[in-house]
Amino acid sequence: MKAIEDNYIPLTEQLKKIFYLFTSQWLLEWDQQVNLPGAESCAKLRGAQIGALAETLHAASTEERIHTWLKALEKHHDALTPDQQVVVREARRDYDLKAKLPADFVAKKKKATSEAFHVWAEARKNNDYASFAPYLKRNIDLSLEESAYQEFKDNPYDYWIDQFDPGLDTQTVDRLFAELQEELVPLVRQVLESPQKTSSKIFKGFPVDTQRTFLKQVIEKIGFDFSRSRIDVALHPFCIGNPSECRITTRFHEDHPLDSLFSSIHEAGHGLYELGLPAEHEGTPLAQAVGSAVHESQSRLWENQVGRSRGFWKYWEPKYREAFKDELKDIDPETLYRAINAVDLNPIRVDSDELTYNLHIILRFTLEKQLFAGELDVNDLPEAWNSLTESLLGFTPPSDAQGCMQDIHWAWSCFGYFPSYCMGNMMAAQLWETANKALPHLEDDFAQGDFSAMLGWLRQNIHSQGKRYRTLELVEHVTGESLSPKALIRYLKERYLPLYN
Ligand code: ZN
Repeated sequence: MKAIEDNYIPLTEQLKKIFYLFTSQWLLEWDQQVNLPGAESCAKLRGAQIGALAETLHAASTEERIHTWLKALEKHHDALTPDQQVVVREARRDYDLKAKLPADFVAKKKKATSEAFHVWAEARKNNDYASFAPYLKRNIDLSLEESAYQEFKDNPYDYWIDQFDPGLDTQTVDRLFAELQEELVPLVRQVLESPQKTSSKIFKGFPVDTQRTFLKQVIEKIGFDFSRSRIDVALHPFCIGNPSECRITTRFHEDHPLDSLFSSIHEAGHGLYELGLPAEHEGTPLAQAVGSAVHESQSRLWENQVGRSRGFWKYWEPKYREAFKDELKDIDPETLYRAINAVDLNPIRVDSDELTYNLHIILRFTLEKQLFAGELDVNDLPEAWNSLTESLLGFTPPSDAQGCMQDIHWAWSCFGYFPSYCMGNMMAAQLWETANKALPHLEDDFAQGDFSAMLGWLRQNIHSQGKRYRTLELVEHVTGESLSPKALIRYLKERYLPLYN
């Protein structure tokens, strides 16, 4: 139909232009984290370039004609193909989200966030929460104002959840987390009280070059395509990507070789998702990830369900020992496997094990929700943080720097993101169960160094879908069941109870 073509073609051309601007911006950000020479002039230039590009990007994303094309297409909704319907639905969402925010508000919030970030970095260094509190309060107030612009009237926090995982809301997360918490708290206690102690701190002096070579072998074997990607060193591991290319980062420490190995598998999992999105639709929502929780399910599944399994290590252990002959000579196979699956209490979320990590997320979600509802005053945050840590994990953090100020998220006005990590874990476990029903030989494959069936299953069921389904619909579509913590609990019990009697 001509009326459709006349609007759909210019719309997708504009979406591709936005994609090119966006990916140029992330390339500059990648350069900032990975390659930037030390002189102040370089940081200044890169910051200015990113700022200029961000303005151009915002202007391109909020052009009035996008609204005109969308309105015309929405009138012919039933005559659109299913793919076109997805593009129109998601382009409408993106356009409205950006166009509803006044430019002066965006500028005001950006400036406030940047100030809060610098104050937080200093406050964390000095363990001085009081100096950060007013800036955190301002970040929350501005975020509440933003929810109001977006017309989230019933519960402003819903907007922040929906930002990262479209279609999810506070009530749903609340229900899922309550169910998880009920099972997880006693399970963690049971594992920690076990006389079978394990530790991940048994490694010493693993040469960085050998670590780099080994982990590249591992991620290449699981399917990470180095002809379209690279891995570099940065302060924090991250992944940026699309169907054409992908960049991941890691960091090395001679005494913590498993950190760089598992964070690389994790980031490669994100990368496999991006690289597996359908290239023929690049630049449109059909070639974009659903949201943060689905993204996290992809990284977690490779890192945990695959990477910490017996089958995986049956294949890799001889190669690991070959690479680190001297370093591993006093560590027997069972001690190594237990170190890979060690559980111990850590006040720091990012250093936590797979089991306790979820409780760190429930802690943040609970407090964030209360802060947004006005039920918790920012001045009372440290006390609330410490007492909730005590009831969930059974200890009190040694300081606010290692407690409520440890994460960058709130300083950076990144609210509503934490739940995605835990929802991703639930989803990973659910996908893992479903994949194993369809492909009962998966762990035997891993033991043979064959990861193609696993990747093929994810490609077919998750990656190739782009944004066709929203988070909860995708889970139902693939697993036949709604999102729930049950599979995660089953998986954690199966993995950890035998190790900890
Ligand atoms: Zn991740």
